[in-house]
Amino acid sequence: MFVHSQESQQQECSCPVEREELDRQMDIFPDKATERKILSFKIKCSSDGCDWTGELREKEDHLASCSFKLVSCTNEICQVTIQRKELEEHATNSCQWRIVVCDHCNESHPKCLIQDHVERCEKKPVECPNSCGEIIVQAEIASHTNDHCPLSVVYCPYAQMGCNAKIQRKEVETHLQSTMQLHLDLACTTFKETTGKLEEKMNSLQLKQEELDKERITLREQVKELTAKNVALGAKMAAQEKEVSVLRSESSKFVWRINGFSEILQRAISGTEREIYSEPFFTGKMGYKLSVCIQPNGNQSHKYKYLSVNLRLMKGTYDNILAWPFHYKVTFTLIDQQDDVSWPWRENVTQSLISRGSKLTSDVSCSMEGIARFVSHKVLKTRRYIVNDTVFLQVEIGPPT
Ligand SMILES: [Zn+2]
Ligand SMILES: [Zn+2]
Ligand SMILES: [Zn+2]
Ligand SMILES: [Zn+2]
Ligand SMILES: [Zn+2]
Repeated sequence: MFVHSQESQQQECSCPVEREELDRQMDIFPDKATERKILSFKIKCSSDGCDWTGELREKEDHLASCSFKLVSCTNEICQVTIQRKELEEHATNSCQWRIVVCDHCNESHPKCLIQDHVERCEKKPVECPNSCGEIIVQAEIASHTNDHCPLSVVYCPYAQMGCNAKIQRKEVETHLQSTMQLHLDLACTTFKETTGKLEEKMNSLQLKQEELDKERITLREQVKELTAKNVALGAKMAAQEKEVSVLRSESSKFVWRINGFSEILQRAISGTEREIYSEPFFTGKMGYKLSVCIQPNGNQSHKYKYLSVNLRLMKGTYDNILAWPFHYKVTFTLIDQQDDVSWPWRENVTQSLISRGSKLTSDVSCSMEGIARFVSHKVLKTRRYIVNDTVFLQVEIGPPT
């Protein structure tokens, strides 16, 4: 049997006569003889008015040239379909979308839009709107009327001087001649006014200049005063520096008497109060502000218990005139309260550190440096370091070397 080649290979197929199921591979094959028979059937052209007849196999060739077949117009945009024999006449002479050229500027436009273009065409010649008789291309009308047309109405050239006349351009010359006296008077008045204004300006400038001169003199005096003050301040600072260096070469001592020591120690061991502070003291008149801090039970990181001592550098009144860093030798001494000056002689516990504390900023009110293992609890209980539950701790601030 004859099978159309485009039929899907997957589709089930059966005999159209007996409805018997067929195997696509085994039962179906191209029937060349029937194909030839069908292709030689006689047919008639379906186009309106065409009387062509022929075999089915000639159909495509005929339609390709049939002059009655409907075809689309070849002009872009045009949607018209028309019999082939009338296409040329339509496309070149009557189609509204055929391309035509503007007579003035040679631009191409579709026939149905050319009228719109010509209305706006910059090269279209038109008459001057003032009817001076000149023919100008549309694009140059503004420049003609603004700058050249003799019939345009313009201001008198003396308008700025006060002449209010508006005249046609061709009349300007006549106007100037006939109103010469008026124009001269106007010019004269304007000149006087301008001169007056200029004089006023000059006067006010003069006044300003004088004011400026005065200000300059005042400023110069102020600078002089400031310079003098600066010199005085320099001298003062030099004097203060001298005082500071004197202070630095001196030593100062502070003795802290700590009463009720056993309770203080107990509180530190129990963790209630791990450290206590002395009253602040100064290294002499106008000196550094300091205080002492002890941790009676140390910082708890040692196997054997120690008393730790620290120096607190505090923000003080005279910091701005002192020398920085705070470079001093700090000596802590636990005083043996042995009152017999003969044997056994006092055996104080002494340790030192060299401080390099920097000036405290506004965020920081004190900084601390210290000796963690100053004296062990074992040693502390010997001799006469604690008498009547009181301890004396001395701090000495001295030159670093
Ligand atoms: Zn035909
Ligand atoms: Zn057309
Ligand atoms: Zn044009
Ligand atoms: Zn004109
Ligand atoms: Zn005038």
